[in-house]
Amino acid sequence: MSVTVRAPAKINLFLGVGPRRADGFHPLATVYQAVGLYDDVTVADAEEWSVELTEPVAGVPLDADNIAVKAGRALTAHHGLDKRARIVIHKGIPVAGGMAGGSADAAATLVALDRLWGLRTADEDLLALAAELGSDVPFALVGGTAEGSGHGEIVTPLVDRGQWWWVVVPHGEGLSTPKVYAEFDRLSPAATQPSIPERLYGALRDGDTDGLAIALRNDLEDPALSLRPELETTLEHGYRAGATMALLSGSGPTCLFLCGTGDEAREVAAGLHALGHDEVRIAAAPVAGAHVVSYA
Ligand code: ATP
Repeated sequence: MSVTVRAPAKINLFLGVGPRRADGFHPLATVYQAVGLYDDVTVADAEEWSVELTEPVAGVPLDADNIAVKAGRALTAHHGLDKRARIVIHKGIPVAGGMAGGSADAAATLVALDRLWGLRTADEDLLALAAELGSDVPFALVGGTAEGSGHGEIVTPLVDRGQWWWVVVPHGEGLSTPKVYAEFDRLSPAATQPSIPERLYGALRDGDTDGLAIALRNDLEDPALSLRPELETTLEHGYRAGATMALLSGSGPTCLFLCGTGDEAREVAAGLHALGHDEVRIAAAPVAGAHVVSYA
């Protein structure tokens, strides 16, 4: 028997970064949104842990360093089980793109193994295991639109009545999240504790694209652009193609373009394509967190 779970990419509608703490983490005030780009994770019983990709993707470890294997081990340790699984990942989320693809795989693996083995792990235990695996993993379980506090691992769902359209331009070479934070520390030595503006909650409640455009903020954008200046050209291309707003996804290098409707998104995508961007995707949001798509 095998179980397949689908988990979404995330974007940060707001990513306010505070000063680096002694433990190395930065306090965050963030609003996550799950968008319609997905990884599918299929698990089945096996003698040993293993991980495979349905198609080769550079930069994804195929050993115990893969966060999906770490998730499997964390779940078996939690239940005191002597079980292992084969994990097959179909990646639809850009790797090292600031869209938390690894975190999506970890969340999907937790849910898939829980179902495969009939563990009925309590939600709060799954969320706690997820938080141990990485700051973005709990949100990949929850999905929708949610506020993240702490270092992003404490997730509170938000009212979101919008139907949002994003054009997504990944960039071949990923950006390392720790390096972007180090550049943030260099550029913003006097960072203060951020908070989420009321107008962002209002734009989400009202489904107001122009209101959302004004409220979007990413404190990692300047450091990422400092490390990868050519991304400014991509952001500028998005405006030229007619996007309402352009911003970087998380620590980058994926660029995001907010559009008012699905038709506008298709026009912006076509415009970006014409400006030389080969990989351009359209994602609707918000979408569900990690969920079972098949039992076989
Ligand atoms: P972050 O979650 O830190 O924002 P990201 O979204 O930029 O990260 P990911 O695609 O999650 O990027 O990958 C970050 C790194 O994690 C990769 O470079 C890779 O070395 C490692 N990694 C481990 N497991 C996976 C996985 N299942 N899929 C993708 N990357 C993985």
